[in-house]
Amino acid sequence: MITTKVHLGDYLPLTCSRKGTCCHGNQVFLNPWEIVSLANEKKCSVTEFIENYTDLKGLKLRFDGVKNQIGKAACNLYIDDFGCSVHKSRPLACRLFPIGRQIQENEIQYIYQGTEFPCLNCCSEVLELPKLTVNDYLSGQETDLYEQAQDEYLEVMQNLADIAFSLLLDTKLAESNEPETLIEWRKMSNESIEQILNRIDSEWIKLLMTPSINECVNKPIEFARKHNELLQSKAQEQFGQLESLSELSKASVQIMAITLFLAKGIGADPTALIEFWIETAKSHGARE
Ligand code: SF4
Ligand code: SF4
Repeated sequence: MITTKVHLGDYLPLTCSRKGTCCHGNQVFLNPWEIVSLANEKKCSVTEFIENYTDLKGLKLRFDGVKNQIGKAACNLYIDDFGCSVHKSRPLACRLFPIGRQIQENEIQYIYQGTEFPCLNCCSEVLELPKLTVNDYLSGQETDLYEQAQDEYLEVMQNLADIAFSLLLDTKLAESNEPETLIEWRKMSNESIEQILNRIDSEWIKLLMTPSINECVNKPIEFARKHNELLQSKAQEQFGQLESLSELSKASVQIMAITLFLAKGIGADPTALIEFWIETAKSHGARE
């Protein structure tokens, strides 16, 4: 996918014409804190929110609402002639659009998809509206807290990846020189996110997407840190005493699948990540 990098000082046609075009036929991925925040806004439980408004167990918003004039289905949180029903708690991807934010090898970049400014496709009237710097646009959209949440979940993702590495490199799997674990990691680089989801045990998905954290819903950084603790302690409880090579290998693959699933929700590229991590593991002696 070709992307165009933008810089904070760039002047772009960022005043929205409010036609709701980008709330149709789009893809909006969520991190676990955004799911809780959206469920609160809709005054329903997280489980009900996931069931009614998302696909992939909460990883992305469902776009099966009323179609617009060009046949694209609306996000099912979109209300015709009104707009977004969760505006106050809309996720980072919606706050940023038409800008995107990508993380490549831990570096954050602002971009837009393609070489033509995305709004020009269906809302060319933006050219008549005032231009804004990217920086002013982000301030107006109040992305700060949401970006911090995303970055905190980047840490959670990295910590999960570290468990997968540790199971592979710090146990007798490493001495055994077995290739199966990295072969399974490699397979995931060619799998869809649905296939990766199918690898993950239901109790891990429950902990990843609907953690029982009630006390800091308005504090995403704290929320993500508590979530990290829950994930780490489950890994310790479930994988801390493993002995056999096949159990260790399965555990490493399971945790890597969970890591890649979370990566997708926070705007990272699972394929690029797994390829990078395979090379890292090989450089530390793992065999493929
Ligand atoms: S495509 Fe751009 S101008 Fe049109 S509704 Fe979305 S953000 Fe606004
Ligand atoms: S959450 Fe709101 S802003 Fe985002 S796509 Fe759905 S309706 Fe549009």
